[in-house]
Amino acid sequence: MKLWPYTPNEQAQWGINPPISDSATYAFPSADAMIETFEGTREDHFLYSRHSAPTTTRLEMALAKMEKTESAVVFGSGMGAISAVLMQHCGQGDHIVASRTIYGGTYAFMKFFLPKLGIETTFVDTNNVAAVEGAIRENTRVIYTETMSNPLLRITDIASLGQLSHSKGLKLIVDNTFTPLLVQPAQLGADIVIHSLTKFINGNSDCVAGVACCTAEMAHTLRDVNTGAAMLFGSTLDSTRAAGILKNLQTLDVRMIRHSQNAHYLARGLEKMGYRVSYPGLRSHPDHDIMRAQHQSRYGFGGLFTLEVDNFEQANALMQELQKAGLGHLAVSLGHHQTLFSASGTSTSSEIPENERLDMGLGDGLIRFSVGLDGDIESSFMGYRQALKKVGLTGWKDSYSLS
Ligand SMILES: *Cc1c(COP(=O)(O)O)cnc(C)c1O
Repeated sequence: MKLWPYTPNEQAQWGINPPISDSATYAFPSADAMIETFEGTREDHFLYSRHSAPTTTRLEMALAKMEKTESAVVFGSGMGAISAVLMQHCGQGDHIVASRTIYGGTYAFMKFFLPKLGIETTFVDTNNVAAVEGAIRENTRVIYTETMSNPLLRITDIASLGQLSHSKGLKLIVDNTFTPLLVQPAQLGADIVIHSLTKFINGNSDCVAGVACCTAEMAHTLRDVNTGAAMLFGSTLDSTRAAGILKNLQTLDVRMIRHSQNAHYLARGLEKMGYRVSYPGLRSHPDHDIMRAQHQSRYGFGGLFTLEVDNFEQANALMQELQKAGLGHLAVSLGHHQTLFSASGTSTSSEIPENERLDMGLGDGLIRFSVGLDGDIESSFMGYRQALKKVGLTGWKDSYSLS
């Protein structure tokens, strides 16, 4: 993928993998250079690694290129990026309009933490643009949504929300963690695009990291030594991890294509057998057309699908059986090279109160699958069929054949 932020000359000197800067601080050639850097009138020097560092800066260049934004700021986690960006934009007395089906940690931050600082959030169905508009108040600063919601996999019409937010002078912030490369929110009108790099982008489940892709001005604001949330909250990404993520980013295109192909294959097969499946690539998905209109078709419809069984006990039995059969891990998170599955209602979305969960269609029998890079997905599918049969799950159509 053409996201390599080093010139041929640099690679000739440093090697074909990213150099790792192993310093917390940097020497200035003169006292004037240091003063000007602190004043912000000079930007050709590194200062201190909580502010910026050579390796993290190159990762930021690559991620900005991927999202087609001017700039980017990396963080020590996805929540580090989300909390910093929201608090940079909102203060005492401000208001946020957010999707009601967002990541559990983001939901908890808005619902339980931000009110302590006098920042209120109204949660709405962001697929309903009229509802979003109706929730906007005089003190609203931000509209916050995810391209593909967790765990219901609803797809946001980003262009419509972009038009609305700009007509009201608001910022549209989009978490694109589930759909890197598939969808480019900044091209559709998002002002800031956030990723948890922990997921597909790194792809190995061996570290936690995040990014906010944004304008150069916003990146500058986030890093300001006096008022920048990235600088002052200190959720900094380490250079060793940044180098690892930068290497893994180079294979993201190949991986996303395979994640999508595999997830599509399993979702289609299970749906044909009569199971309750949700996948944006299926015609039965409520946002199939929105996804088709805004995705880069070569990357498919993403690596996640959900399967709904009747209850929590059935979900647990199935997941344990799948794990025993070596088809994946009973684990939270996503974007790993092996399949991961968890029952969302009692794990990653457990921050959301039960009545609200049921109201939004998130039952206790809902299993979210992050499909891995299985080389032989036909054989994996056979394994799924066997596991389902073994735990006696309904929906089984014996006559169904793969042909
Ligand atoms: C995991 C995740 C986050 C939080 O990222 P961390 O790296 O775990 O802090 C935010 N949004 C989405 C959609 C996620 O999946």
